[in-house]
Order: sequence, then C-alpha cells, then structure tokens
Amino acid sequence: MNDQAPLMLSVSGARGIVGESMTPEVASRFAWVFGSGLVAAGGDAPTVCLGRDSRASGESLAEAAANGLMAAGCDVIDLGIVATPTTGVMVTATASVGGIMITASHNPNPWNGIKCIESTGSAPPASVAERVIAGFRDHDGDLPVIDADRALLMESRGDDTHIARVLGQIDPVPICAREYSVVLDSVNGAGCRSGLKLLQLLGCEVLHLNGDPTGDFAHTPEPKESNLGTLMELTAESDAVIGFAQDPDADRLAIVDEDGRYIGEELTLALAAEYVLRNHPEGDEPGVVVANLSTSRMVDDIAARHGGRVVRTAVGEANVVEAMRREEAVIGGEGNGGVIVPGICFIRDSLGAMAFVLASMAQTGKSLKELVDGIPAYSMIKRACALPGSGGPAAVEPVLELVRSHFASAAIDASDGVRIDLEDAWVHVRASNTEPIARVIAEAPQAEAAEALIATVADLAGWTVS
Ligand code: MG
Repeated sequence: MNDQAPLMLSVSGARGIVGESMTPEVASRFAWVFGSGLVAAGGDAPTVCLGRDSRASGESLAEAAANGLMAAGCDVIDLGIVATPTTGVMVTATASVGGIMITASHNPNPWNGIKCIESTGSAPPASVAERVIAGFRDHDGDLPVIDADRALLMESRGDDTHIARVLGQIDPVPICAREYSVVLDSVNGAGCRSGLKLLQLLGCEVLHLNGDPTGDFAHTPEPKESNLGTLMELTAESDAVIGFAQDPDADRLAIVDEDGRYIGEELTLALAAEYVLRNHPEGDEPGVVVANLSTSRMVDDIAARHGGRVVRTAVGEANVVEAMRREEAVIGGEGNGGVIVPGICFIRDSLGAMAFVLASMAQTGKSLKELVDGIPAYSMIKRACALPGSGGPAAVEPVLELVRSHFASAAIDASDGVRIDLEDAWVHVRASNTEPIARVIAEAPQAEAAEALIATVADLAGWTVS
C-alpha cells in the first residue's frame, strides 16, 4: 500500500485504488470480517447477497469477497452487475442476513470499494461499520479454508425484482399513456440495464447515453452539471421532455429539464417528495419526509403545502434511514440526488426517483420546468475550509460555539455541527466525516444573502473558505 493511495475506511465502507490499496486480498478479508459478524449474530450458514458495479476490477474483487464470505461460513447469492439499491432490494427479497456491494460510487476509475448492507437492506449504522473496520485492521493472517458445504448461487433476477418494487409504488398507466421521450445517461455504470428497462416499461422512448455496463466511464462520473454537457445538449436538441443522469452505482440521480438546463441535484428529492406528499392519503397522519441538515429548505415548503412534516438528521445515509424507520417516513433522502423510498428499499435509488418524477409529470400534465417553477427557488452556496491535522468535530467545536452565540436568537440545531435557521435562510457548519475540512453551506432566496451568511461564519471563525 503506498501513501498516494490510502485505503479509505469509513462509515460508508472501504475505498481504494485498484491494485494498490484495493486488492482481492483486501476484499476477501473485509468480506470475511463482515461475514464473521453475521455468523456470530446467530446465523447457521447465513445467506449474503453480493452485487457489483460495472468497473472492470469488480469481477475479481467480487470473487474475492465471495470467498471471504464463504470462509466465514456464509452462503452467497451472486447478483452480478447491479445497482447498489438492487442489492438492497435483493437482501430483503431473499431474506438474506446482509449484503455486500463492490463499488466506489461516483469515484472515477481506478477506484473501487466495498459497501456493507444489513438484513434490513440498508447501510449499517456507524457502530456496526466501526466494528467491521476494527476487525479488518486487527486481522492480517490467512482466512480459514472454505467448508465444502458452502454454496455460491448465481441470481439474475435482481433488476426485475427491483423494477417490480418500483412499479408497485406508482401507477404506470398514466405515464405509459404520455409516451414520453427521455434521455438517460447511465455513465456505462451499474444502472444501465435496469434504468433502461424501467423507462421502457413506463412507455418511454429512450435515447440511452453511455448505456453499456462496461465500467468505462464516458465522463467524470459524478452527476454534476460540469460532467453532463452531452446529456444537456441532447435533451435540449431532441424532443425529450426530461434528461436523467445516474452515477456509477445508480443510487444518485440528477435531472435536466426539457430545455437542457441542469436543475440541480437538490431538486431530485424535492420533486419526488412533492409527488409522494401530494398523494399521501387524506385523514392519515401527516406524511413525514426525512432529510439531512444540509438538504434544501424546498422540502420544508413542500411539506408545509401538503400538511406534511420534515425531520432533519445528521449527514450520512445511515442517519437518514434510521430516522425514516423511527418516524415511519413516506420518503427521505439527501440533497445530492439521493431519494430513499421505504416501499422499495432503504438505500438511495435512482430508479425510484425517476419513476416518481415521471409519475408527477403524468399526474399533473405539467412539464418538468412547470413542476420546478412550482417549487420555491433558493440559492444554495457550498464552501469548505481546510482544518489542521486530521480535522473532525473537535477541530470545529470552538467555531461552532462562536456561531451559536452570534445567532443566539435563531433556531439552532446542534446534532451535526451547527445549523442556524433564520426567517428565510439557513447556514450549516460542520466537520466533514471523510476529509480534514469544515463545510459551510448556506441557502437563501438570493445568492447574495447566502454568500453573506457564509461570510459571517468565515469572519467569526477566521477561516478562508473556497
Ligand atoms: Mg453512488
């Protein structure tokens, strides 16, 4: 392992550079530790689902992970190349005790990584993730020989099972009747087949960009505006009513409107939440939307419009999911284009998000642009500041105290850094979980007001933000 390519171990799993810090040995040992925990929890030859994204390195890493799981005493269901949410769906559909997904999400090649999934089909909480990391660090010997009774089963029905769950969340008929023209950019990632199939089943005519799951990413894979030029151009030039962009493991979704304008990933959750709350049965308890503290206030406005309620959590998918279960939320997610639909699985899901946005268009007869115009617009500014040493919460605590005192009369949430909510704007200051930086995020109706909030925090902290 060299210093240029450290193995990154965090609550989201392990990520490294293939052939350097991420090797079959790492994958099998990591899987063995996770599998051993499942066996120790009382499983007699428990079954674990294994999926991978489309990176070329995925096959050998998945094979190694399967060996690690079987050495721990687990049977393995190999799903092949599937989206991360598909692995989550299959863990619950097969009543498996857990899952492993080989993916580095939006990281470019040559990265790859390993994500663990619990029996509930969701990312494990920090306590479980930390136990796996500690076990991985502690063990450097050979793994036990695989017992001859262990089974490795191939399962090709992941995509269809996932799509069936998505279709169960909406009425496909009005969407099919519209015969929408859609551009889909799957970045040659894990969502190629399932994304296309879902849209075709919804009666869409699909122009599929980067639709071969080769793992050869045609552009920088994170679905940000700067990486989606071709999608924006083709959506504008063609008669498409919408453009969708998936990330390599198809958990995140970004959207382009019929004019080719990138509407921003914050709107993916906002549009999906709008549809779900609009259709929440009257007379039931108010529908709950769960979002992290850095997610746009658009969801609050939408919830207010439909008599719903928003619950905020610390940043991190596991935190959002934990609150969704506790509150029996109707939808949840994060402002990075990650929508979580309880009836599908407790993992961010680009397929569910696409279905909800199309269902909303079909139900209202509105264009995407009209739906976006119906949601109050804000300007969100995201800045960062390098922290000394390895950063972390302790490094920002003195600044948080200054911010809390300065905004003493505002609504303050201190569950993850500090978020200050003013009349029509907010600012959130926190230490990153994965990098030695502080993040300062502000949102206001106008960009100048958001910039001013960032400047106030930077002044109080003595930080240079960029
Ligand atoms: Mg991802």
